[in-house]
Amino acid sequence: MQFVVVGAGIVGLAHALAAARAGLAVTVIDREARANGASIRNFGFVTVTGQQAGDTWRRARRSREIWAEVSEAAGIPVLHRGLLMAARRPEARAVIEEFARGPMGEGCRVLAPEELPPPLRHGLAAALYSPHELRVEPREALPRLAAWLEAHHGVRFLWRTHVRAVEPGRVDTTRGPIPADRVVVCPGNDFLSLFPEAIAAHRPVRCKLSMLRLSDPGWRLPAAVMSDLGLVRYLGYAGASSLPVLRTRLDAEQSGQLAHGVHLIVVQSADGTLVVGDSHHYGDTPDPFLAAETEALILEEARAVLQFPTAPRVIERWVGEYPSAAVPAFIAAPTPESRVVMVTSGTGMSTAFALAEETLASFGIAATLPA
Ligand SMILES: Cc1cc2nc3c(=O)[nH]c(=O)nc-3n(C[C@H](O)[C@H](O)[C@H](O)COP(=O)(O)OP(=O)(O)OC[C@H]3O[C@@H](n4cnc5c(N)ncnc54)[C@H](O)[C@@H]3O)c2cc1C
Repeated sequence: MQFVVVGAGIVGLAHALAAARAGLAVTVIDREARANGASIRNFGFVTVTGQQAGDTWRRARRSREIWAEVSEAAGIPVLHRGLLMAARRPEARAVIEEFARGPMGEGCRVLAPEELPPPLRHGLAAALYSPHELRVEPREALPRLAAWLEAHHGVRFLWRTHVRAVEPGRVDTTRGPIPADRVVVCPGNDFLSLFPEAIAAHRPVRCKLSMLRLSDPGWRLPAAVMSDLGLVRYLGYAGASSLPVLRTRLDAEQSGQLAHGVHLIVVQSADGTLVVGDSHHYGDTPDPFLAAETEALILEEARAVLQFPTAPRVIERWVGEYPSAAVPAFIAAPTPESRVVMVTSGTGMSTAFALAEETLASFGIAATLPA
Protein backbone atom coordinates (compact mmCIF):
# COMPACT_ATOMS: atom_id res chain seq x y z
CA MET A 1 0.00 0.00 0.00
CA GLN A 2 1.36 3.46 -0.95
CA PHE A 3 1.16 5.70 2.09
CA VAL A 4 1.78 9.39 1.45
CA VAL A 5 2.43 11.97 4.15
CA VAL A 6 2.24 15.68 3.30
CA GLY A 7 4.47 17.72 5.60
CA ALA A 8 7.86 16.79 7.06
CA GLY A 9 7.44 18.48 10.43
CA ILE A 10 7.30 16.33 13.53
CA VAL A 11 3.66 15.40 12.92
CA GLY A 12 4.45 14.21 9.40
CA LEU A 13 7.58 12.32 10.48
CA ALA A 14 5.65 10.64 13.30
CA HIS A 15 3.14 9.40 10.73
CA ALA A 16 5.94 8.20 8.48
CA LEU A 17 7.34 6.19 11.38
CA ALA A 18 3.99 4.67 12.34
CA ALA A 19 3.25 3.72 8.73
CA ALA A 20 6.74 2.30 8.17
CA ARG A 21 6.44 0.24 11.33
CA ALA A 22 3.20 -1.12 9.92
CA GLY A 23 5.12 -2.30 6.87
CA LEU A 24 3.75 0.25 4.37
CA ALA A 25 5.62 1.95 1.52
CA VAL A 26 5.91 5.54 2.74
CA THR A 27 6.58 8.78 0.87
CA VAL A 28 6.89 12.10 2.71
CA ILE A 29 6.41 15.25 0.65
CA ASP A 30 7.34 18.77 1.75
CA ARG A 31 7.57 21.98 -0.21
CA GLU A 32 10.61 23.15 1.75
CA ALA A 33 14.17 21.87 1.22
CA ARG A 34 14.16 20.69 4.86
CA ALA A 35 11.90 21.04 7.89
CA ASN A 36 11.74 24.75 8.66
CA GLY A 37 8.45 25.29 10.51
CA ALA A 38 7.37 24.99 14.15
CA SER A 39 9.11 21.64 14.46
CA ILE A 40 12.61 23.12 14.33
CA ARG A 41 11.73 26.38 16.10
CA ASN A 42 10.47 24.88 19.35
CA PHE A 43 12.26 24.01 22.60
CA GLY A 44 12.51 20.34 21.70
CA PHE A 45 10.85 19.84 25.03
CA VAL A 46 8.87 16.60 25.20
CA THR A 47 6.61 17.56 28.09
CA VAL A 48 4.42 15.25 30.12
CA THR A 49 3.85 17.04 33.44
CA GLY A 50 1.56 20.01 32.90
CA GLN A 51 -0.17 18.62 29.83
CA GLN A 52 -3.94 18.81 29.88
CA ALA A 53 -5.65 15.85 31.56
CA GLY A 54 -7.17 13.36 29.13
CA ASP A 55 -6.04 12.91 25.52
CA THR A 56 -3.06 15.28 25.63
CA TRP A 57 -1.56 13.76 28.78
CA ARG A 58 -2.13 10.23 27.49
CA ARG A 59 -0.56 11.08 24.13
CA ALA A 60 2.37 12.80 25.81
CA ARG A 61 3.18 9.75 27.92
CA ARG A 62 3.02 7.44 24.89
CA SER A 63 5.01 9.84 22.69
CA ARG A 64 7.68 10.21 25.34
CA GLU A 65 8.16 6.42 25.28
CA ILE A 66 8.55 6.50 21.50
CA TRP A 67 10.97 9.47 21.68
CA ALA A 68 13.10 7.46 24.12
CA GLU A 69 13.29 4.52 21.65
CA VAL A 70 13.68 6.59 18.51
CA SER A 71 16.24 9.05 19.87
CA GLU A 72 18.52 6.16 20.70
CA ALA A 73 17.97 4.34 17.41
CA ALA A 74 18.37 7.49 15.31
CA GLY A 75 21.34 8.89 17.24
CA ILE A 76 19.47 11.95 18.51
CA PRO A 77 21.07 13.12 21.77
CA VAL A 78 18.71 13.64 24.71
CA LEU A 79 20.07 16.81 26.28
CA HIS A 80 17.91 16.97 29.41
CA ARG A 81 15.69 14.61 31.28
CA GLY A 82 13.05 15.99 33.60
CA LEU A 83 11.49 19.31 34.50
CA LEU A 84 12.01 21.70 37.41
CA MET A 85 8.85 23.78 37.81
CA ALA A 86 10.16 26.55 40.05
CA ALA A 87 7.64 28.13 42.42
CA ARG A 88 8.61 31.73 43.07
CA ARG A 89 5.69 32.38 45.42
CA PRO A 90 3.99 30.50 48.25
CA GLU A 91 0.80 30.51 46.14
CA ALA A 92 2.70 28.65 43.40
CA ARG A 93 4.10 26.21 45.95
CA ALA A 94 0.49 25.43 46.98
CA VAL A 95 -0.33 24.60 43.34
CA ILE A 96 2.64 22.27 42.83
CA GLU A 97 1.99 20.56 46.16
CA GLU A 98 -1.63 19.95 45.18
CA PHE A 99 -0.55 18.72 41.75
CA ALA A 100 2.04 16.34 43.20
CA ARG A 101 -0.63 14.75 45.41
CA GLY A 102 -2.98 14.18 42.44
CA PRO A 103 -3.03 11.39 39.84
CA MET A 104 -1.00 13.34 37.26
CA GLY A 105 1.70 13.99 39.89
CA GLU A 106 2.77 10.36 39.87
CA GLY A 107 6.57 10.17 40.02
CA CYS A 108 6.87 13.91 40.75
CA ARG A 109 8.34 15.39 43.93
CA VAL A 110 8.21 18.80 45.57
CA LEU A 111 11.71 20.03 46.43
CA ALA A 112 12.13 22.38 49.40
CA PRO A 113 14.19 25.57 48.90
CA GLU A 114 17.29 23.98 50.44
CA GLU A 115 17.04 21.03 48.01
CA LEU A 116 16.96 23.19 44.88
CA PRO A 117 19.93 22.58 42.61
CA PRO A 118 21.96 25.48 41.27
CA PRO A 119 21.57 27.55 39.18
CA LEU A 120 18.05 28.04 40.58
CA ARG A 121 18.00 31.24 42.58
CA HIS A 122 18.00 31.38 46.38
CA GLY A 123 14.68 32.63 47.69
CA LEU A 124 12.40 30.45 45.57
CA ALA A 125 9.53 28.91 47.54
CA ALA A 126 9.99 25.35 46.16
CA ALA A 127 10.09 23.46 42.87
CA LEU A 128 8.22 20.52 41.43
CA TYR A 129 10.61 17.95 40.00
CA SER A 130 9.12 15.78 37.26
CA PRO A 131 11.27 12.92 35.91
CA HIS A 132 9.19 12.32 32.77
CA GLU A 133 10.45 14.92 30.28
CA LEU A 134 13.03 14.67 27.51
CA ARG A 135 14.65 17.45 25.57
CA VAL A 136 16.25 17.20 22.14
CA GLU A 137 17.72 19.93 19.93
CA PRO A 138 14.95 20.29 17.35
CA ARG A 139 17.02 21.86 14.57
CA GLU A 140 19.27 18.77 14.70
CA ALA A 141 16.69 16.19 15.73
CA LEU A 142 14.34 16.70 12.78
CA PRO A 143 16.98 16.18 10.06
CA ARG A 144 18.36 13.16 11.93
CA LEU A 145 14.93 11.65 12.32
CA ALA A 146 14.25 12.12 8.60
CA ALA A 147 17.64 10.63 7.65
CA TRP A 148 17.03 7.63 9.93
CA LEU A 149 13.54 7.06 8.51
CA GLU A 150 15.05 7.09 5.03
CA ALA A 151 18.02 4.84 5.83
CA HIS A 152 16.47 2.47 8.33
CA HIS A 153 12.82 2.31 7.26
CA GLY A 154 13.09 3.00 3.53
CA VAL A 155 10.91 6.11 3.72
CA ARG A 156 11.14 8.17 0.52
CA PHE A 157 11.39 11.97 0.89
CA LEU A 158 10.36 14.41 -1.81
CA TRP A 159 11.60 17.84 -0.73
CA ARG A 160 10.89 21.13 -2.56
CA THR A 161 7.59 19.64 -3.69
CA HIS A 162 4.25 21.33 -3.09
CA VAL A 163 1.14 19.16 -2.92
CA ARG A 164 -1.63 20.89 -4.83
CA ALA A 165 -4.44 18.39 -4.39
CA VAL A 166 -5.32 15.00 -2.97
CA GLU A 167 -7.20 12.95 -5.53
CA PRO A 168 -8.46 9.34 -5.61
CA GLY A 169 -5.40 7.07 -5.80
CA ARG A 170 -2.83 9.88 -6.05
CA VAL A 171 -1.65 13.29 -4.96
CA ASP A 172 -1.09 16.06 -7.46
CA THR A 173 2.26 17.77 -6.87
CA THR A 174 4.55 20.28 -8.51
CA ARG A 175 6.61 17.24 -9.62
CA GLY A 176 3.59 15.55 -11.13
CA PRO A 177 1.25 12.90 -9.73
CA ILE A 178 2.41 10.53 -6.97
CA PRO A 179 0.47 7.28 -6.38
CA ALA A 180 -1.25 7.25 -3.00
CA ASP A 181 -3.64 4.70 -1.49
CA ARG A 182 -3.76 6.54 1.83
CA VAL A 183 -2.83 10.17 2.43
CA VAL A 184 -2.19 11.98 5.69
CA VAL A 185 -1.90 15.76 5.46
CA CYS A 186 0.13 17.31 8.32
CA PRO A 187 0.28 20.93 7.11
CA GLY A 188 1.26 22.80 10.28
CA ASN A 189 -0.10 26.33 10.00
CA ASP A 190 -1.21 26.12 6.36
CA PHE A 191 -5.00 26.11 6.67
CA LEU A 192 -5.83 26.66 3.00
CA SER A 193 -3.83 24.52 0.55
CA LEU A 194 -5.45 21.14 1.19
CA PHE A 195 -8.88 20.27 2.62
CA PRO A 196 -9.55 23.86 3.83
CA GLU A 197 -13.14 23.06 4.84
CA ALA A 198 -12.10 20.17 7.09
CA ILE A 199 -9.57 22.47 8.77
CA ALA A 200 -11.93 25.46 9.01
CA ALA A 201 -14.44 23.30 10.89
CA HIS A 202 -12.07 23.55 13.88
CA ARG A 203 -11.68 27.35 13.53
CA PRO A 204 -7.90 27.46 14.00
CA VAL A 205 -5.97 30.71 14.31
CA ARG A 206 -2.21 31.18 14.28
CA CYS A 207 -0.19 31.74 17.43
CA LYS A 208 3.14 33.58 17.20
CA LEU A 209 5.87 32.87 19.76
CA SER A 210 9.08 34.79 20.50
CA MET A 211 12.21 32.78 21.22
CA LEU A 212 15.72 33.68 22.34
CA ARG A 213 19.07 32.00 22.61
CA LEU A 214 21.39 33.24 25.36
CA SER A 215 25.14 32.75 25.56
CA ASP A 216 26.52 30.00 27.81
CA PRO A 217 26.14 31.27 31.40
CA GLY A 218 28.87 28.90 32.62
CA TRP A 219 26.59 26.56 34.56
CA ARG A 220 24.67 23.48 33.41
CA LEU A 221 20.93 23.00 33.95
CA PRO A 222 19.98 19.65 35.49
CA ALA A 223 16.57 19.73 33.74
CA ALA A 224 14.27 22.05 31.81
CA VAL A 225 13.08 24.96 33.97
CA MET A 226 9.67 26.64 34.14
CA SER A 227 8.04 28.98 36.66
CA ASP A 228 4.80 30.33 38.21
CA LEU A 229 3.63 31.77 34.88
CA GLY A 230 3.62 28.26 33.41
CA LEU A 231 1.28 27.06 36.14
CA VAL A 232 -1.48 29.38 34.93
CA ARG A 233 -0.76 28.63 31.27
CA TYR A 234 -0.37 24.83 31.16
CA LEU A 235 -3.78 23.20 31.34
CA GLY A 236 -2.55 20.25 33.40
CA TYR A 237 -2.63 22.48 36.48
CA ALA A 238 -6.04 23.97 35.64
CA GLY A 239 -7.93 21.64 38.00
CA ALA A 240 -5.96 22.71 41.10
CA SER A 241 -8.25 24.41 43.61
CA SER A 242 -5.26 26.52 44.71
CA LEU A 243 -4.73 27.96 41.19
CA PRO A 244 -7.13 30.97 41.36
CA VAL A 245 -5.22 32.43 44.31
CA LEU A 246 -1.98 32.27 42.31
CA ARG A 247 -3.73 33.74 39.30
CA THR A 248 -4.94 36.72 41.36
CA ARG A 249 -1.42 37.43 42.59
CA LEU A 250 0.06 37.12 39.08
CA ASP A 251 -2.63 39.47 37.74
CA ALA A 252 -1.44 42.03 40.27
CA GLU A 253 2.31 41.47 39.92
CA GLN A 254 2.96 40.25 36.36
CA SER A 255 0.20 41.76 34.24
CA GLY A 256 2.77 42.64 31.54
CA GLN A 257 3.81 39.02 31.11
CA LEU A 258 0.20 37.81 31.17
CA ALA A 259 -0.89 40.39 28.57
CA HIS A 260 1.73 39.06 26.13
CA GLY A 261 1.18 35.41 27.01
CA VAL A 262 4.70 35.26 28.42
CA HIS A 263 5.71 32.28 30.48
CA LEU A 264 9.12 30.76 31.06
CA ILE A 265 10.77 27.72 29.59
CA VAL A 266 14.57 27.49 29.74
CA VAL A 267 16.46 24.57 28.24
CA GLN A 268 20.15 24.16 27.51
CA SER A 269 21.95 23.07 24.37
CA ALA A 270 25.02 20.87 24.09
CA ASP A 271 27.26 23.95 23.75
CA GLY A 272 25.89 25.47 26.96
CA THR A 273 23.77 28.14 25.30
CA LEU A 274 20.21 28.50 26.61
CA VAL A 275 16.98 28.47 24.64
CA VAL A 276 14.58 30.77 26.47
CA GLY A 277 10.98 31.71 25.75
CA ASP A 278 8.26 32.46 25.15
CA SER A 279 5.27 34.69 24.38
CA HIS A 280 1.92 34.01 22.68
CA HIS A 281 0.16 36.39 20.26
CA TYR A 282 -2.84 35.12 18.30
CA GLY A 283 -4.35 36.14 14.96
CA ASP A 284 -5.22 35.10 11.42
CA THR A 285 -1.95 36.66 10.24
CA PRO A 286 0.30 37.43 13.21
CA ASP A 287 2.90 40.08 12.43
CA PRO A 288 6.51 38.88 12.08
CA PHE A 289 7.98 41.41 14.52
CA LEU A 290 9.70 40.69 17.84
CA ALA A 291 8.97 43.55 20.23
CA ALA A 292 11.80 44.55 22.57
CA GLU A 293 9.21 44.81 25.36
CA THR A 294 8.23 41.15 24.96
CA GLU A 295 11.86 40.09 25.01
CA ALA A 296 12.45 42.12 28.18
CA LEU A 297 9.47 40.46 29.89
CA ILE A 298 10.82 37.00 29.07
CA LEU A 299 14.31 37.88 30.29
CA GLU A 300 12.93 39.43 33.48
CA GLU A 301 11.26 36.12 34.37
CA ALA A 302 14.39 34.13 33.51
CA ARG A 303 16.49 36.31 35.83
CA ALA A 304 13.94 35.97 38.62
CA VAL A 305 14.32 32.18 38.55
CA LEU A 306 17.93 31.56 37.53
CA GLN A 307 21.15 32.95 38.94
CA PHE A 308 23.06 34.48 36.02
CA PRO A 309 26.69 35.44 36.74
CA THR A 310 26.42 38.46 34.42
CA ALA A 311 23.56 40.04 32.44
CA PRO A 312 22.38 37.41 29.95
CA ARG A 313 23.50 38.07 26.37
CA VAL A 314 21.02 37.36 23.56
CA ILE A 315 22.83 35.68 20.66
CA GLU A 316 19.86 34.63 18.51
CA ARG A 317 16.17 35.58 18.13
CA TRP A 318 13.40 33.95 16.13
CA VAL A 319 9.65 33.68 15.89
CA GLY A 320 7.68 30.50 15.55
CA GLU A 321 4.04 29.86 14.79
CA TYR A 322 1.65 27.08 15.57
CA PRO A 323 -2.08 26.56 14.98
CA SER A 324 -4.36 27.12 17.94
CA ALA A 325 -7.99 26.01 18.38
CA ALA A 326 -10.47 24.95 21.05
CA VAL A 327 -9.41 21.30 20.76
CA PRO A 328 -5.78 20.31 21.51
CA ALA A 329 -5.45 18.39 18.21
CA PHE A 330 -7.65 16.85 15.57
CA ILE A 331 -7.65 14.01 13.06
CA ALA A 332 -10.18 14.87 10.33
CA ALA A 333 -11.32 12.41 7.67
CA PRO A 334 -12.35 14.46 4.61
CA THR A 335 -12.49 11.22 2.55
CA PRO A 336 -12.21 7.56 3.61
CA GLU A 337 -8.64 7.40 2.20
CA SER A 338 -7.33 10.68 3.63
CA ARG A 339 -6.76 12.34 6.98
CA VAL A 340 -5.79 15.83 8.06
CA VAL A 341 -3.85 15.88 11.33
CA MET A 342 -3.20 19.11 13.15
CA VAL A 343 -1.90 19.79 16.64
CA THR A 344 -3.72 22.95 17.74
CA SER A 345 -2.28 23.45 21.22
CA GLY A 346 1.47 23.90 20.72
CA THR A 347 2.23 20.39 21.94
CA GLY A 348 3.31 18.61 18.77
CA MET A 349 6.80 17.63 19.94
CA SER A 350 5.15 16.02 22.96
CA THR A 351 2.19 14.28 21.33
CA ALA A 352 2.83 13.62 17.61
CA PHE A 353 4.01 10.01 17.89
CA ALA A 354 0.88 8.93 19.75
CA LEU A 355 -1.39 10.90 17.44
CA ALA A 356 0.15 9.12 14.48
CA GLU A 357 -0.72 5.75 15.98
CA GLU A 358 -4.31 6.95 16.36
CA THR A 359 -4.40 8.06 12.74
CA LEU A 360 -3.16 4.65 11.57
CA ALA A 361 -5.76 2.95 13.75
CA SER A 362 -8.45 5.18 12.18
CA PHE A 363 -7.53 3.59 8.81
CA GLY A 364 -7.72 0.16 10.43
CA ILE A 365 -3.92 -0.21 10.20
CA ALA A 366 -2.06 -1.48 13.27
CA ALA A 367 1.59 -0.57 13.85
CA THR A 368 3.26 -3.94 14.25
CA LEU A 369 7.01 -3.72 13.86
CA PRO A 370 9.43 -2.40 16.49
CA ALA A 371 11.00 1.06 16.06
C1 LIG B 1 8.32 28.58 19.30
C2 LIG B 1 7.61 27.28 19.53
C3 LIG B 1 7.91 26.53 20.66
C4 LIG B 1 7.27 25.29 20.86
N1 LIG B 1 7.69 24.50 21.88
C5 LIG B 1 7.20 23.24 21.96
C6 LIG B 1 7.75 22.32 22.89
O1 LIG B 1 8.74 22.61 23.55
N2 LIG B 1 7.15 21.12 23.04
C7 LIG B 1 6.10 20.74 22.25
O2 LIG B 1 5.57 19.65 22.43
N3 LIG B 1 5.65 21.54 21.26
C8 LIG B 1 6.16 22.78 21.11
N4 LIG B 1 5.71 23.61 20.14
C9 LIG B 1 4.69 23.10 19.21
C10 LIG B 1 5.29 22.21 18.15
O3 LIG B 1 6.48 22.77 17.64
C11 LIG B 1 4.25 22.02 17.04
O4 LIG B 1 3.04 21.51 17.60
C12 LIG B 1 4.76 21.04 15.98
O5 LIG B 1 6.04 21.38 15.57
C13 LIG B 1 3.80 21.00 14.80
O6 LIG B 1 4.38 20.14 13.85
P1 LIG B 1 3.79 20.03 12.39
O7 LIG B 1 4.51 18.94 11.73
O8 LIG B 1 2.28 19.97 12.47
O9 LIG B 1 4.07 21.45 11.71
P2 LIG B 1 5.36 22.07 10.99
O10 LIG B 1 6.59 21.80 11.71
O11 LIG B 1 5.00 23.50 10.76
O12 LIG B 1 5.44 21.31 9.60
C14 LIG B 1 4.45 21.40 8.60
C15 LIG B 1 5.12 21.12 7.27
O13 LIG B 1 4.12 20.93 6.27
C16 LIG B 1 4.62 21.44 5.05
N5 LIG B 1 3.46 21.66 4.16
C17 LIG B 1 2.28 22.24 4.49
N6 LIG B 1 1.43 22.20 3.45
C18 LIG B 1 2.10 21.58 2.43
C19 LIG B 1 1.76 21.24 1.07
N7 LIG B 1 0.54 21.51 0.56
N8 LIG B 1 2.69 20.63 0.30
C20 LIG B 1 3.93 20.34 0.80
N9 LIG B 1 4.31 20.65 2.08
C21 LIG B 1 3.39 21.25 2.87
C22 LIG B 1 5.37 22.70 5.48
O14 LIG B 1 6.31 23.08 4.50
C23 LIG B 1 5.99 22.25 6.79
O15 LIG B 1 7.33 21.76 6.60
C24 LIG B 1 6.29 24.85 19.93
C25 LIG B 1 5.99 25.62 18.81
C26 LIG B 1 6.66 26.82 18.59
C27 LIG B 1 6.34 27.61 17.37
